[in-house]
Amino acid sequence: MGTRGREIVGMNVGKLVQLLNEAYASEWLAYYQYWLGAKVIKGPMKDAVAAELNLHATEELNHAVLLSTRIIQLGGTPVLTPEGWGKVSPCKYDAPEDPYVAVLLDQNIAGEQCAITTYKKLMDATKDKDMVTYNLALQILTDEIEHEEDLQSLKEDLDLMVQRGRK
Ligand code: FE
Ligand code: FE
Ligand code: MG
Repeated sequence: MGTRGREIVGMNVGKLVQLLNEAYASEWLAYYQYWLGAKVIKGPMKDAVAAELNLHATEELNHAVLLSTRIIQLGGTPVLTPEGWGKVSPCKYDAPEDPYVAVLLDQNIAGEQCAITTYKKLMDATKDKDMVTYNLALQILTDEIEHEEDLQSLKEDLDLMVQRGRK
C-alpha cells in the first residue's frame, strides 16, 4: 500500500489486519450460508425468504470485497484458504441441515447478531485510530443491522401466519 496511508494508522497494523481478516472470514461463511439456504429452503413463504437470503448473500460477498481491499491496502494478506475461514471467523458456520424456513431464519439471525458484534468491536478498536477502517466498519455495520431486522421481520410474519393457521 502507499506508505503514507499506512503511517497514519494510529494502531498496530498487524493487529488491525487480524481483526479485518476475522471479519473477512465471517463474510465468506455468511455468504455461503445464505446462498445455500436459498437453494434448499422449504416451507411457507419460502419464495419471499429465499429472495431475501439471495440478496443478503450478494451483500455479504460485497462486504468481503470491501474488507479484502482494505487488508491489501494495509499490506496484509486475506485468509488464503476456505479451511482458514472456519478457523479465523468469530462467527460460526451453521449448515442448513434442517431446511425449514423458520430454522434457516433463526440460524441467519444468529449470524447477523454475531456480525453486528464483530463490527461494533472493529469500530471500537479503530475509533480515533484509523478513520478509513472505522468508516468501512460503520458502512458494513449499517448493512448488518438492516439484515437482522429484515430476517426478524420475516420471522414475525411467518410466526403470525403459522399461529393464524392453527385457529
Ligand atoms: Fe456482512
Ligand atoms: Fe449480514
Ligand atoms: Mg435485506
